[in-house]
Amino acid sequence: MDLDLDTGRLIVFLTGFGFFLALESLLPARQMTSAKHRRLLTHGFMATVNTLLVRTLTFVPMLAWLVYVEQQGWGLARWLGLSGWLEFIISIIVLDAFDYFWHRANHRITFLWRFHKAHHADTQIDVSTALRFHPGELLLSSLAKATWVVIWGPSTIAWFLFEILVSWFAQAHHANWDLPDRLERVVRRVWVTPRFHAIHHLVDRRFGDANFSTLLSVWDPCFGTEAEALSRAQTKDLDLGLPEAREHTASLKQWLTEPIARRNLGLSQQRQAD
Ligand SMILES: [Zn+2]
Repeated sequence: MDLDLDTGRLIVFLTGFGFFLALESLLPARQMTSAKHRRLLTHGFMATVNTLLVRTLTFVPMLAWLVYVEQQGWGLARWLGLSGWLEFIISIIVLDAFDYFWHRANHRITFLWRFHKAHHADTQIDVSTALRFHPGELLLSSLAKATWVVIWGPSTIAWFLFEILVSWFAQAHHANWDLPDRLERVVRRVWVTPRFHAIHHLVDRRFGDANFSTLLSVWDPCFGTEAEALSRAQTKDLDLGLPEAREHTASLKQWLTEPIARRNLGLSQQRQAD
């Protein structure tokens, strides 16, 4: 069953990627300034390195950990006696909340920000940005996820479906498309929309250090990190990325060396100081 879920994850990933790539090519929300094929090549290469690394180092240990935690009967979900659909739905919501706090930590703790800023150094946002992560961030987040597993104790199926949803939503909210204003206002109350997430990537961190949610958008208003909503007209021309990353968005060397680079450090603290 685990292997089927894993194949399912790959199919959802590939069809989602194709779908959002087509959508943003037909109905782009913002004008792209760099060549699409170059972005796809660079980010595709990063994703290949990351997938090889993460699969080799963390996939089997994570599966073994899920099974071990289940055998031991650990985790709040099991102590609460949750099972079936209820366990499934509540686990997705709880894991999404964990992700929200982990994402905030990635912006607040300088050590984590060193890795996460490789994602934010992208000066354009499109579906391929969802592939742009530093391998160090992915390895660190595997450790965080292993901790959520022992605290909450989700079923293996809830865990896999959550991972599938995260990869689908990451493509959906990084892709360069937008909803009409009225529809956007309704959808963003519950789910993270592309416009909601684009604000998170603004160069001006006084606005950009907000909107950390992944699936459900409710965590930001709940914990006071929601940015003021923008209209569709306002999102046509946004300054995205990081102040000192304007020129080097497609450099593989810069992507890998971002954690040891001094530029763009401490930005996560800027908002608190303002
Ligand atoms: Zn971020």
